[in-house]
Amino acid sequence: MMMLDSKKMIKIFNHIASTVEEEKAFLTELDTAIGDGDHGINLARGFHAVAEKLSQMADDDDTGSVLKTVGMQLVSTVGGASGPLYGTAFMKAGAVSKGKRELDAAGFLAAFEAAVDGVKMRGKAVPGEKTMLDALCPACDALKISIAGGDDLKTAVWKSVEAAEKGVAYTKTIIATKGRASYLGERSLGHQDPGATSSLLMLRAIAESL
Ligand code: ADP
Ligand code: MG
Repeated sequence: MMMLDSKKMIKIFNHIASTVEEEKAFLTELDTAIGDGDHGINLARGFHAVAEKLSQMADDDDTGSVLKTVGMQLVSTVGGASGPLYGTAFMKAGAVSKGKRELDAAGFLAAFEAAVDGVKMRGKAVPGEKTMLDALCPACDALKISIAGGDDLKTAVWKSVEAAEKGVAYTKTIIATKGRASYLGERSLGHQDPGATSSLLMLRAIAESL
């Protein structure tokens, strides 16, 4: 049985940080098409700071405080819309994981649900508006169904990655009504959302690390 303790969680965040760094140019290209071209640069800077901070807290035994630290780092180092959104997501995940030395499948799901609720609340957005929620919401639904069906966490997270992939593809087909891309109206059609894409990349990095 795989244990998602704080040590493992820090490994996951290091993998997310290197993934975001590798995909920085791609995310920036996506954001140049329908935004201001800073998404990859912002996130890479943020997760670099996260990795740095987490390397100083390797002895911590509470998954909640790891997640809270990640959220606080992202809020203070990532600009734009996505900084406060991802920051809130991880802080909310941290709050529901408080005091837990490790997360099992149910604990992971609870953290993920809290994160998605945090994004919805903070961004005042719902799925269908061409945002990160178009990846995160279907991913969360798939995770829940998979875990309820008895899958182990790794299998469930891979299923949520598949759902997020479909969600990212879906963002190409809709007009943005939230965030900077909404200024483009119909011209946002045909482009995949940068934030939905970064959410997918993070989820895939989690799946690869589990
Ligand atoms: P900015 O648009 O301020 O430059 P980023 O480029 O870092 O911020 O992030 C853009 C991404 O943020 C979008 O692709 C979208 O997924 C997400 N986003 C923007 N506004 C919202 C919102 N209100 N709710 C959820 N996600 C949003
Ligand atoms: Mg931007």
